[in-house]
Amino acid sequence: MRKYVIMGVQGSGKGTQSQLLCDDLDLVHISVGDIFRWNVQHHTKLGAQVRRIMNAGELVSDDLVEQIVRGRLDEHDWNFGFVIDGFPRNGRQAEFFMESYDIDGVIHLELPEDEVRRRVLSRRLCPNCGMDYNLIADRPEEEGRCDICGHELITRADDTPEALDARLRDYNEKTRPVLELFRRKEFVHDIDARPPAEEVQAKIRAALNLPAYQAEKPS
Ligand code: AMP
Repeated sequence: MRKYVIMGVQGSGKGTQSQLLCDDLDLVHISVGDIFRWNVQHHTKLGAQVRRIMNAGELVSDDLVEQIVRGRLDEHDWNFGFVIDGFPRNGRQAEFFMESYDIDGVIHLELPEDEVRRRVLSRRLCPNCGMDYNLIADRPEEEGRCDICGHELITRADDTPEALDARLRDYNEKTRPVLELFRRKEFVHDIDARPPAEEVQAKIRAALNLPAYQAEKPS
């Protein structure tokens, strides 16, 4: 059983790296932001509760987040373990998490702030299949269309300069101290997030003593 937390500033590639890590190791990727975005897109009651807060780049209340995380982990579909992304984001969430689950490692993706702005403001998302694009490094073949499913790409509502400022402020004030808390417990592996995704993944695996990435599982 492997239980990892992935942390890093906005645009550092948490989603991509979690996906790569989960792919061949049969881990479950739990992204709190994705759960909220799904609910907003599908106009659920939860979506209505969080939409405005998310669009402004603010944090959803701890009670609600904890309820969602507990509910998701209680599904117990993670026989081999999980990678949790976007949680914990402050001291209270970290305490809640550590009370209930032991952690095998924290992956910390490091990215300088000018690169964060460059990446986030050029990010595009497929609302249909969830594929992420970047107009600088990872353009879709046809402008504005998803390579996988052909759906029109959108900009995340919180990928605006104003919302990004709010998210970076929260990250620096509330989330960085969590990282220090984990660091004291010697859980944290600092990884440079600037190189291409495959290279970053290889560094993560080396740090966690995991086997190299295997795109296709042998049949
Ligand atoms: P993310 O995709 O991780 O950047 O999350 C998108 C948005 O979802 C955040 O800006 C928050 O509004 C909300 N959110 C996600 N995770 C959390 C969390 N752990 N605590 C509070 N709000 C969260």
